[in-house]
Amino acid sequence: MDRNIQTQAVVLSVRKYGELHKAVTLLSPELGLVDAIIFGGRKGKKTALAPLFSISTLQLYHNPLKKEYSVTEGVSSFIPQAITEDLACTYTASFFCEIISKTPTDEPEQTFNLLCDALTSLEADCSSRKRITAAFIWKLMQISGTAPDLEFCPVCDRRFSDDETLFFSNPINAPCCKSCSDSEYIVLMPGSRRYLRYTMPMDFKSALDVVLNPAAEQRIFLYMLRWAAVFAQTQLKTLNDLMAF
Ligand SMILES: [Zn+2]
Repeated sequence: MDRNIQTQAVVLSVRKYGELHKAVTLLSPELGLVDAIIFGGRKGKKTALAPLFSISTLQLYHNPLKKEYSVTEGVSSFIPQAITEDLACTYTASFFCEIISKTPTDEPEQTFNLLCDALTSLEADCSSRKRITAAFIWKLMQISGTAPDLEFCPVCDRRFSDDETLFFSNPINAPCCKSCSDSEYIVLMPGSRRYLRYTMPMDFKSALDVVLNPAAEQRIFLYMLRWAAVFAQTQLKTLNDLMAF
């Protein structure tokens, strides 16, 4: 592999690395998830390199002996402003980045494009964050190939009726009919199911244009967060912050 690599990337997390350096987790459309060090990143002009939630074109150096990446240069095409000024929006962006960093993908390019669209949509309109979050989780499940069609119960194969409320099966991480369920905590109301089925074939941005009334938006938002907790198959630190708003 080339030692010097140029790639686009979203910065999913930033942390201290010793006294002088920073470590970042990146999502690149070519490389997937990458941990990289910014040497000298806590002092001087390198502090501006790869800020949290930014979208950048980065120069990476790969040290094959140490199996380590470092960021040497970069130009950001998107640096969030509104997101960092609004606490609920910061939590939302942190949640997007956490779930992506904890669910390794076989489709890094699609995941990268989805995350870019989600962050720029959030920046443009923080007040739509619940709708953006629901659409983001739904699209992420589709990219990972785990989204069910919501037409048939995946356990007993029975076709759901239009006004049926769905429950949840933990063993298969999917909604199912009441008699097949082992959880009454994740309940999908008929209206929310219609929304999910309606937006399923749409691209992310078109799905965002489907406007819901505030009560329906709140229902689908909480539903998708609960589903995301199961989907991630690991503890998500940002989930409780997000549910509290
Ligand atoms: Zn069933």
